[in-house]
Amino acid sequence: MTLKNTVRVGFIGLGIMGQSMARNLHEAGFPVTVWNRTEVKMNLAQEWGAATATSPREVAQVSDVVITIVGDTPDVEKVVAGEEGVLAGAKPGTILVDMSTISPDATRQLAAKAAAQGVRMLDAPVSGGDVGARDGTLSIMVGGAEDVLEEVRPLFEAMGKNIVHCGPNGAGQTVKACNQIMCGLNLLGMVEALSFAKKAGVDLEKMIQVTTQGAAGSWALANLGPRVVKGDLAPGFSVRFQQKDLRIVLQEAEHLELPLLGTAAVNQLLRSVQAQGGSEDGTHALISVMEQLGNVEILPEGSGE
Ligand code: NAP
Repeated sequence: MTLKNTVRVGFIGLGIMGQSMARNLHEAGFPVTVWNRTEVKMNLAQEWGAATATSPREVAQVSDVVITIVGDTPDVEKVVAGEEGVLAGAKPGTILVDMSTISPDATRQLAAKAAAQGVRMLDAPVSGGDVGARDGTLSIMVGGAEDVLEEVRPLFEAMGKNIVHCGPNGAGQTVKACNQIMCGLNLLGMVEALSFAKKAGVDLEKMIQVTTQGAAGSWALANLGPRVVKGDLAPGFSVRFQQKDLRIVLQEAEHLELPLLGTAAVNQLLRSVQAQGGSEDGTHALISVMEQLGNVEILPEGSGE
């Protein structure tokens, strides 16, 4: 079956991730209608060929599959279940795919609300960052009915490479929480190693070059390490969003009565970045806290801070 040119895709949220993901869908041949809260971001999408709508409700009215990738749990609740939300315009049979990172519990509640009006929902959070969104190489963690995943798989294949059905609604978000635990700890490992290398006087680029290919390799090391060395703290993935994700993780861990020592430490260290005004920086701004803790200058002079 070819879905292209027959399935109308609605896309809500043209941020760092959404703009590239929507564009990749368009380039794969799907007709895409977009909506973004800040209108000006729709201009760029119009340039690459998207149609625009005036609300999430209107997007749903003209789409068979609606994808959302916005911010936090209340943002998804608003664009999905608000007065002008997707569910206000969706017909029975519509598939709603939320690719934001939000609470697994809230996801299950939204999926039940959607099901009550015949809308089938998947949670499909992603990993791979701005680079993965741009290159169409995201990992996609899917919760919901497997047959619904199979219906929209060609769409996921336009945005990602590693598409895994994780279980029922909420399971995608639970796996994403696991992902964020590891991202946080890999980030901490990366900045601690850079701090150690700098204080011990070895070349940072060489350290990154060789360790990336060995057992210590990680996405953080390969993608964020070089940005630290250049003094480029732009997001990528912002400290504010990482803290949102760690809040979701730590709340779930509390329900599970599970201690997560490393994750809690990363959360507190990133709070220090936030206390110093770095909320909108990329997560690798954690390096600035390491500089203070170790009294060592890692960022190139005049950059970052
Ligand atoms: P972003 O650049 O800040 O974009 C956020 C998008 O959500 C914008 O389009 C924003 O609209 C929209 N939005 C936020 N709150 C809204 C609300 N209440 N109503 C309507 N629209 C709202 O964020 P991003 O980096 O693309 O991340 C989006 C989601 O993907 C988040 O859940 C994030 O955790 C997840 N994610 C991000 C990355 C990454 O590396 N960036 C990786 C994996 C997952 P405006 O333009 O009006 O602000």
